[in-house]
Amino acid sequence: MRVDIVTIFPDMVSAVLGASLLGRAQKSRRLQVRVHNLRDYTHDKRRTVDDRPYGGGPGMVMRPEPIFECVEAIRRRACAGHRADAGACETLLMSPQGEPFSPALAQELAARRHLTVICGHYEGVDERVRLGLAHRSVSIGDYVLTGGELPALVVVDGLARFIPGVIGHQDAVTEESFADGLLEYPHYTRPLVFRGMAVPDVLRSGDHARIARWRKLQGVTKTMALRPDLIKARTRRPSYE
Ligand code: SAM
Repeated sequence: MRVDIVTIFPDMVSAVLGASLLGRAQKSRRLQVRVHNLRDYTHDKRRTVDDRPYGGGPGMVMRPEPIFECVEAIRRRACAGHRADAGACETLLMSPQGEPFSPALAQELAARRHLTVICGHYEGVDERVRLGLAHRSVSIGDYVLTGGELPALVVVDGLARFIPGVIGHQDAVTEESFADGLLEYPHYTRPLVFRGMAVPDVLRSGDHARIARWRKLQGVTKTMALRPDLIKARTRRPSYE
């Protein structure tokens, strides 16, 4: 899978992409990420990407022309022979007003051949980018960050886990928190006793059925304590059985 990220802070994005599992996924060619400096698509001496908002108000707005030019250049290279509007080749605008990022969306995006991710800044991006260029807007939560770089990295990291081979044990992805609407069970490793806190006996019993039952119960108990909203959402879900 190939991902192109459009940003005015390429160094910030590249630094994170080179590390850990994302770095390994790129080395193994399961994931190819290219970072584009939006200022390379400007035509004035100062490489301006923003301007004052029509109608007045605080802050600056990102102009549409360099974003359209950059994304269209990416599409010409990466989507040649594919319909740019088809699911295979999708353009995302990072925005707090977008569709909430979720495990289901991560899995859906991981099945794409190519993604372009646009990072906004300032007061945001000229609305014509959403209307005429992006296929969808994606939010990483109901809060506002200063720029789209961290959200873009969250999305790339979140979807990379669903690309076969990126995570050692692919089963881990489907057992993770939220996969079935609950938090995952607690994990323990050595030492057996740490500062008076012991590893539960059941985990050392070797009885896999008992361990599975314990983990299921712990997942539910932990969800009730830490995220009761998830339990409510689960019980509200219609049952088709
Ligand atoms: N004025 C905008 C609003 O109220 O909706 C917020 C603009 S924000 C300061 C600047 C940029 O950061 C956005 O264009 C977007 O790319 C990114 N951003 C901020 N928070 C985000 C979030 N929760 N999810 C995704 N992107 C976000």
